[in-house]
Amino acid sequence: MSQKAFASQADLEEKRVSFTRLSEHAYAYTAEGDPNTGVIIGDDAVMVLDTQATPAMAQDVIARIRQVTDKPIKYVVLTHYHAVRVLGASAYHPEHIIASHDTLELIRERGEADKASEIGRFPRLFRNVETVPPGLTWPTLAFTGQMTLWLGRLEVQLLQLGRGHTKGDTVAWLPQERILFSGDLVEFDATPYAGDAYFKDWPQTLDRIAALNPDKLVPGRGAALTTPEQVQAALAGTRSFIADVHACVQEGVAAGKDLKTIYKDTYARLQPKYGHWVIFDHCMPFDVTRCYDEVTQYPDPRIWTAERDRQMWEALES
Ligand SMILES: [Zn+2]
Repeated sequence: MSQKAFASQADLEEKRVSFTRLSEHAYAYTAEGDPNTGVIIGDDAVMVLDTQATPAMAQDVIARIRQVTDKPIKYVVLTHYHAVRVLGASAYHPEHIIASHDTLELIRERGEADKASEIGRFPRLFRNVETVPPGLTWPTLAFTGQMTLWLGRLEVQLLQLGRGHTKGDTVAWLPQERILFSGDLVEFDATPYAGDAYFKDWPQTLDRIAALNPDKLVPGRGAALTTPEQVQAALAGTRSFIADVHACVQEGVAAGKDLKTIYKDTYARLQPKYGHWVIFDHCMPFDVTRCYDEVTQYPDPRIWTAERDRQMWEALES
């Protein structure tokens, strides 16, 4: 078997950006499976959800926003702590950077390790990485459970609906327009990354998203979903991927197999169904390793470092 390039180091092809209008107040900046940014335009201010990976890349988001509004960008919301979502924040010069308290804890505990790890895994996603200021992106407002903001008359709810992609996952919900920004809790035509995930909780959290009954949804990766049918398809796809990984790993552990054997079995079983989703080969070793940890002896995700990434990859892909 030929050796796979580590993570996404061989992924060099630039993607085409779309800036999709979902309503008078909601836009989605998407790029064929690369990390998305959401934009909410209220009466008096703009809110950005997830920033892109570098200030240089965030400038392209700002340019698109300026084509549709000249209102000030006052709020940046971090749906979770991953570097690829947060390190562009400084470009927006927001009044506030908002995150859940659980996300703040993850930034404190593992932000530095994650920054080095993510830049090593996926260099293309960190274009002009030299524009990232030293240190980390720190929230200026942290909340637990739920926070409501009114951008003039537009109500924006920030909700923690449960753990899933990370323990700090936050979604943004526009109740008046039934539009949801999910972060990486929901993906579309893209493989869910589950290296920091809670497999047991994630499906229930998706049920709570489904219970809101969104008409439209901006996923963490993949195209903006503009009909209830598309929203249901993305929720179902994400749910079945997580459930399938979980079931394969539980089966392997019950049969007394080791991690590498379980990885090979899970990859073979899932590849025909999900192998066409972007970053499938990148995610699978991390996802199976985390799931194995959760099923065996680690209720909480262990910290990924650049070094641990390489050791794991070497062990599973050799
Ligand atoms: Zn993420």
